[in-house]
Amino acid sequence: MISRTNLKISHVAAFDDNYIWFIHGLPEKSAEKQIIIVDPGDAEPVINSIRHHNYLPQAIFITHHHHDHTGGIKELVDAYQIPVYGPANERIPHITYPLMEKQTISLTSMGLLFDVLDVPGHTIGHIAYLGHQSLFIGDTLFAGGCGRIFEGTAEQMHESLSKLLNLENDTMVYCAHEYTQDNLKFAQRVEPDNKQLIQRIEQTTQLRLSNQPTVPSTLELEKQTNPFLRFNIDSVKTAAENFAQKSLKTPAEVFRTVRYWKDTRNYSA
Ligand code: ZN
Ligand code: FE
Repeated sequence: MISRTNLKISHVAAFDDNYIWFIHGLPEKSAEKQIIIVDPGDAEPVINSIRHHNYLPQAIFITHHHHDHTGGIKELVDAYQIPVYGPANERIPHITYPLMEKQTISLTSMGLLFDVLDVPGHTIGHIAYLGHQSLFIGDTLFAGGCGRIFEGTAEQMHESLSKLLNLENDTMVYCAHEYTQDNLKFAQRVEPDNKQLIQRIEQTTQLRLSNQPTVPSTLELEKQTNPFLRFNIDSVKTAAENFAQKSLKTPAEVFRTVRYWKDTRNYSA
């Protein structure tokens, strides 16, 4: 029986603002040293951490093809001969298991089981990994924001994000970048009166002042404060309509407008 709780996650930082997540095996399997490496854009910090902690790498999970998520794959595969899971609909060298929605990944020795979600928009084949109340979402959803739409359409991204609204509120959301402060600045322009958002900005500022990550968050907090999950909420719709100077008929249009609004300003995501 695979438990949904007790998941231990650690991380290394890479480049300016990337997080490379390590999913550890379950303690009841005595597998805490075994790790899955999520989106290793750079091998060096990963290898350093593995050596330092005597971790036993078991697999790599890839969410999408961008170099800051894949650049370390080759070196890690050469060093540890581990399988690479990744999106079936993108060209990524060294993928052993091409994945699409409805597939599951079972890592028995670690006691881990993950479902695959298709979340296109940022890239055309972007996938996410969901298991043990944790979501590894790459660049689709950020804390307080969402990925830029580079390859897909706003409609696709809206659909991908709508999927996330159906997940449990206590799902831990692990995104791949520390963009939160910047994201929340924009969120506040959209919803200046959102009290949970004001609170989140204070907490985020404190964390960043002490150099702490603001990721993971919970899906509940994202639903309360992330404008890109709030296309069904009146205050966001009104703000988007004021920006667009016209009425917006569907939640997808609200989403597209808010995304466009942010794209035309200077934000990192
Ligand atoms: Zn990306
Ligand atoms: Fe990225």
